[in-house]
Amino acid sequence: MLKLTPTIGMEVHVELATASKMFCGCPAEHFAVKPNTHTCPVCLGLPGALPVPNKKAVDWTMMIGLALGSTVNKTSKFDRKHYFYPDLPKGFQISQYDEPLCRGGQLALDSGKIINLTRVHLEEDTGKLIHQTVGGKRVSLVDFNRSGVPLVEIVTEPDIASGAEAKEFLKKLTAILRTLKVSDCDMEKGSMRLEANVSMGESLAYKVEVKNLNSFRFVEQAIDYELSRQEKLLKAGKTPRQETRGYDPKTRSTFVQRYKETAEDYRYFPEPDIPPMVFSDKDIAAIRAKLPRLPEAKAKDLVDRFNLPPKLASLLVAKASRLTYFKNSVKTAQTLKVSPEKLANLIINHKISLDKPAAEQLKTLTQKQTVDLGIIDQVIKDNPDVVAKIKAGKSSAVAFLVGQVMRLTRGQADAVAARKLLLKRLQV
Ligand SMILES: [Zn+2]
Repeated sequence: MLKLTPTIGMEVHVELATASKMFCGCPAEHFAVKPNTHTCPVCLGLPGALPVPNKKAVDWTMMIGLALGSTVNKTSKFDRKHYFYPDLPKGFQISQYDEPLCRGGQLALDSGKIINLTRVHLEEDTGKLIHQTVGGKRVSLVDFNRSGVPLVEIVTEPDIASGAEAKEFLKKLTAILRTLKVSDCDMEKGSMRLEANVSMGESLAYKVEVKNLNSFRFVEQAIDYELSRQEKLLKAGKTPRQETRGYDPKTRSTFVQRYKETAEDYRYFPEPDIPPMVFSDKDIAAIRAKLPRLPEAKAKDLVDRFNLPPKLASLLVAKASRLTYFKNSVKTAQTLKVSPEKLANLIINHKISLDKPAAEQLKTLTQKQTVDLGIIDQVIKDNPDVVAKIKAGKSSAVAFLVGQVMRLTRGQADAVAARKLLLKRLQV
């Protein structure tokens, strides 16, 4: 019997929100900026220009690693990764190969399952290609404003087993990065880019990379689609091809972008213009001391103090505005007999607006809970045949009466409460 185990790893690229670029003094901001205005000889890759690492970007990468439980390497260096593409003016990207800033680490899902991390490293972003029609001709333009922006890559072990797990992992990771205030993690602006490596089976003779996933929902859908596509092939006795695929949200399916018969050879070698970095225990401790309170600790606090289910607690913590609102209105809610769990659910499900005070909104919502007994009695009186059916044992007919209550209250009544009251009144 063929044993098919989903084996998924994620690669997450995050642009750091530093003021300047990774190896030069140009502003790192590049979104909606006039093309090629934030450039200099270093980020344009002109001959003779020398890169100088951005200390803040190095510190922030270590901070990300420490927040994720990684080990900061006491010696680390930059390497040149060679490939040719018009958005890479030097013909190589300064990245990190065998001595990344951080190794290992982990992130726990709400179920308690641990997703292990392989590494967290720092590199520079590439320029951006813009395809346009100019004077009736299709042309490709290059904007180097993004060239050299600090980019952190976070790589997981293949510990993820489904699209839902990948989505939860990404949400938790984003919450941590936002708490650290190192990136806005905005996928629309491209400051967070996601890639999933998906394979199945025991031998793992192949790996499919799914790229350009620009929302967590698409990651989930693309992974689930890939798993079922690969399962079909494997069950038919075929091995899926080693390839890079894209995702089309319209058809909810992945498609081939290019085949990868062999691993690419980037001819990595140490960047000769930047000396290796050495960190002491004191340096690392100083960065650790700067770590703010992390989402996991905040969520645990909510679970302990308000008895919230862990999943609900992490959803609240994921957005600062939600958490603040919850904390500010939990007392008001309790005076209105709305439990912390109920309040948290109302916030998560957008049932109350975070822009308005809680008291009024909760009053309206709790009023909805009480159903006028007069209406219940009237519905019972108006529908003797349905009542007879219910009394004869056909309890599903109560749904019709609930519908009548909803109609008479113009949808204002709470359907669950109405059902309970009807059954009570009919003594069934
Ligand atoms: Zn520059």
